[in-house]
Amino acid sequence: MVEAFAPTIKDTDFRTIVKEIIQAADKVSLPEAEIVVSAGRGLKGPENWGMIEELADLLGAATACSKPVSDAHWRPHSEHVGQTGIAVSPNLYIAIGISGAIQHLAGVSSSKVIVVINKDPEAPFFKAADYGIVGDAFEVVPKLIEAVKEFKSTHA
Ligand SMILES: Cc1cc2nc3c(=O)[nH]c(=O)nc-3n(C[C@H](O)[C@H](O)[C@H](O)COP(=O)(O)OP(=O)(O)OC[C@H]3O[C@@H](n4cnc5c(N)ncnc54)[C@H](O)[C@@H]3O)c2cc1C
Repeated sequence: MVEAFAPTIKDTDFRTIVKEIIQAADKVSLPEAEIVVSAGRGLKGPENWGMIEELADLLGAATACSKPVSDAHWRPHSEHVGQTGIAVSPNLYIAIGISGAIQHLAGVSSSKVIVVINKDPEAPFFKAADYGIVGDAFEVVPKLIEAVKEFKSTHA
């Protein structure tokens, strides 16, 4: 016999609640990533991460961020790298709008190649960089995206 059944389920009935989805299935995992595109407070707000994600997608990279960015909930805590976050050692770490505080460097200094994009030529990160671009991220990153697209289309 089949009986009609209308259960009332409350939040407290669940033993497990999903608070955060750390990694979408098609995203590169940050600790294992060979390329990391990371951004900091220089990006001004979460609404500006589209270009960071686009660059990361084009490069097959994982995205990361500085601690203040995750503290402000611009990005998930799972992307926070540094002394109090994840330590990464990719072949290429691209740091965009990140000052290069010692606590951030502690988590990224074993990267093979570090590229820094910062509008302040005195930013400490440049001392740890293999390649540096002094410029506004909002001008440099879109140009980088176009250059990667062009490279990929001519080397497909
Ligand atoms: C105990 C302790 C532990 C910590 N652990 C960590 C940690 O694990 N990881 C971590 O990241 N931090 C950590 N911090 C914080 C750390 O000291 C710094 O405050 C933090 O890394 C700074 O983040 P940021 O570089 O994103 O921001 P900011 O210091 O504000 O730097 C922003 C940078 O963006 C640049 N910029 C601004 N506008 C643009 C633009 N349009 N284009 C290009 N560049 C631009 C600026 O010149 C500046 O260099 C810790 C601090 C403490 C005290």
